[in-house]
Amino acid sequence: MKKTIICIDRDGTLIHDSKEHLFLGSDNNWHEKVKILPNAIEGVRRLNTIAGAGIYMITNQPGVAISDFALLTEERAHEVCRFVVEMFKDGGARLDGYFLCPHATPEYVSRKPGTNFHPHLVHDCHCLKPSLGMVFNALQAQGVTPDNADVYVIGDRASDVRTALNIGGTGILIPFVNEPGELDKVKRLGNRNRIHVAENMLAAAEYIVSHPDDVGSGDL
Ligand SMILES: [Mg+2]
Ligand SMILES: [Zn+2]
Repeated sequence: MKKTIICIDRDGTLIHDSKEHLFLGSDNNWHEKVKILPNAIEGVRRLNTIAGAGIYMITNQPGVAISDFALLTEERAHEVCRFVVEMFKDGGARLDGYFLCPHATPEYVSRKPGTNFHPHLVHDCHCLKPSLGMVFNALQAQGVTPDNADVYVIGDRASDVRTALNIGGTGILIPFVNEPGELDKVKRLGNRNRIHVAENMLAAAEYIVSHPDDVGSGDL
């Protein structure tokens, strides 16, 4: 039987994301800006009912590569992730771990004129979603390969859904109010039978729980 591996985006999926709170951890009062989204705890708790499932938070954090954010070091970014995982634990929701990408692509840099970057963190890495580095980290942590795992990626962006498709898994988009263009982007992707749209984390979890070993019927 295949193992279920579920990778969940952080910002805009598990916790609130906003223009003001962008680059969480770039100031010293970041703790109070961490706000868990409605139904996110319940959703992860529901996923916890799947026997043997590995559940990981995976997050692109290009702010780490921005040298203007003196406080948002790689260590700080890990601290924020650990804090989020602990908050879920306090709510009775188990995340088996997390992985973060601290890199910025040259393309990202070109979109931010006037922003300064750490040169060693600017490159086309293998971990930035929709690349698969963090999903492979999750598979490795559970001792499985793509061939013996059912992989789900849940997130608020098309890049999260594309990450799932890139590994032959199922992508679940939870459209977030601050990312209104993402649903349209997802609708333009192929593989619609491997894409599902859910209202929140609990609905996403219900979908996974009720469609075991199914690639999904698709609903776009
Ligand atoms: Mg997100
Ligand atoms: Zn990376």
